[in-house]
Amino acid sequence: MSFDKLTGNDALTKQLRGIACSGNIHNGYIFEGPWTADKLTAAKAFAKAVLCTVKPGEGCDSCRICRAIDDDAHMDVVFVEAENADTQKAKEKAEFGEDPVFKKKKNSVKSIRDAKIEDVIGRLNKVPIEGDRNIAIIKDADTITLRAFNRLLKTLEEPHEGTIIMLLSENIENLPQTIVSRCVHLRVLPSDVPKNVKEKKLADKLVAQIAEGEPYYLVKNTIEKIGNEKTEIYTVLDCMEGIYREMLLSKDVKRDLERLSRAIEMIEEARDRIKRNRNTAYALKSMALRIGG
Ligand SMILES: [Zn+2]
Repeated sequence: MSFDKLTGNDALTKQLRGIACSGNIHNGYIFEGPWTADKLTAAKAFAKAVLCTVKPGEGCDSCRICRAIDDDAHMDVVFVEAENADTQKAKEKAEFGEDPVFKKKKNSVKSIRDAKIEDVIGRLNKVPIEGDRNIAIIKDADTITLRAFNRLLKTLEEPHEGTIIMLLSENIENLPQTIVSRCVHLRVLPSDVPKNVKEKKLADKLVAQIAEGEPYYLVKNTIEKIGNEKTEIYTVLDCMEGIYREMLLSKDVKRDLERLSRAIEMIEEARDRIKRNRNTAYALKSMALRIGG
């Protein structure tokens, strides 16, 4: 089944299955997760669960509809992702015969052109061809310009019946509040990849040390073992978040609810600080101290 591919995302799978089975489907969804998290597979699994007629609410992964979604070939599912500025320039040059000026957003090399979003809106405004729903999966939503977001907002405010817009984002704070407030927020975690064993071990150790209230200098020693590469730091943070989220899912959690939610909040804050190029070691140490409370 298509949801089986979402390893390490039991909570999300349960949530998506529930939505797809209930038939009570919202118009906007945000799939938020770090670059290491497979947000696209999650979005496609959801689209399959909604459109598949062999296994409704689940997706069979083998019928024509499911396979078309996998291959970006379904007539009612439009998929968009960011392109390199150079590719964009070349395309626009071919279209307009001149070199347009590109405004880069958040220094990212890749971004989604406004025209692409216009295409998506155009598709969503048409009657679905194969079934009764039009679905848009927008990868790299973090790179959409404010102008295009405003156009998208109109579609979210007055959608055609059966419209589903899925925005795939690395950080929900990159999206305007007006969009966020109209969407259901889903969190995608990275699946445990064996190559990240070192990061996973460090995350396990940190969580254990904090839980056992070990002296700060020991916690600090573990933090100092994390390399300077941002991808490595993010992986440790993602693993830690995964551990706390798993704890949240376990049955006997009531008394720890507040502590665990707070831990996740602190991890998100640390991730955000590091993204903003604040002092990494300080962000991690302060996170550990504050989770420990
Ligand atoms: Zn199917």
